[in-house]
Amino acid sequence: MAELSDLIANLDLFDLDATATTTASDNHHTLRKICTRGCDRPINVCLCKTIPTEPISTCTQVVILHHPHERRHKLATVPVLQKCLWNCEIIIGRRLSYGDSSILDSLYTDAIEKPNEPLRALFLFPGTGTLPSVEINQWKYSFGDANLNNHVLIAFDGTWKHAKEMVHASVPFLSKFAIQVCLNYDVGVHGGTIFDSDLILRKEPFIGCMSTMEAVARCLRVLESNGDVIELRMVEVLRAMVRFQACFLKPMKARPRLFKKGRVDEKKNVKSELPG
Ligand SMILES: [Zn+2]
Repeated sequence: MAELSDLIANLDLFDLDATATTTASDNHHTLRKICTRGCDRPINVCLCKTIPTEPISTCTQVVILHHPHERRHKLATVPVLQKCLWNCEIIIGRRLSYGDSSILDSLYTDAIEKPNEPLRALFLFPGTGTLPSVEINQWKYSFGDANLNNHVLIAFDGTWKHAKEMVHASVPFLSKFAIQVCLNYDVGVHGGTIFDSDLILRKEPFIGCMSTMEAVARCLRVLESNGDVIELRMVEVLRAMVRFQACFLKPMKARPRLFKKGRVDEKKNVKSELPG
C-alpha cells in the first residue's frame, strides 16, 4: 500500500498552471480570453473544430460525480465530455445519495419496489477486496444482448484518491441499484504519462487508469450499438485536447533529486559514525 500512496502523491507531476504560461511573444491578456463559440476554453486551446456540432445522442444515460476540486483543474475532461454527449448529467460533489439526481432516485425506487428486475445501472470503478467489480465486456455477455438498452453509466471524476473516497461514500446508495464494473487494467504496472500515449493528460497511478472522458468512451463502445463510432469520435476530441496540452507541459524531475539526497545523507551518516 505504501507504493500506492507514493503513486497517488505523484498524480500531478506536471506544472498544472502550464496553460496559463506564455511564451515571450504571447500576449498574456489574449491567452486569458475564453472562447465564446461553444467550447468555453481559453482561445489558444479552443476545441470547437473537434467537438461535435451536435452532441452525440446515446441510449445510455451518463452520470458523472465531479469532485469540487476538479472544477478548477485545467486538465479536467468533464466539461468537454459534457459538450460531446447529449445524455450526460454532471453532479458536483463528493458522494451520491438520494435526492442528487432524479434518474438515480428513480433507479433506486424501482430497485426497491421491483427487487427481481435486472439492474440497468452500472458504476465504473476498479474492484477491491471488499468491492469486487465485473469487467464490462464480461458483464455485457452475462446480461444478454436482448436486455442491453437504456442503461445508466455512473462514473467518478477526481484524482485517484478522491475517486476512491467518492466511491466508498456513494456505495451505500449505489449498491441498491447499480453494478460495479471496470475496464481491463493492471495495478501492478506504473501508469503512463502524456509522454507515453497520445490520450493521457495526467500522470496515472497504473496502466488502465485513464481520464474520465476516455473511460466513458470505452464504456460506450461496449454499451451502445454503434459504440465503436462514438468511441472514435470522443477519442478524437481527447486527442486534440492532449495535443494542445503536450505543447505546454513540462515534466518535473523531483524523484531523482530525492534519491541523490538520500545517498548523500547516507554517506554523511556513515562518516559521522566513524571514530575520530
Ligand atoms: Zn472554442
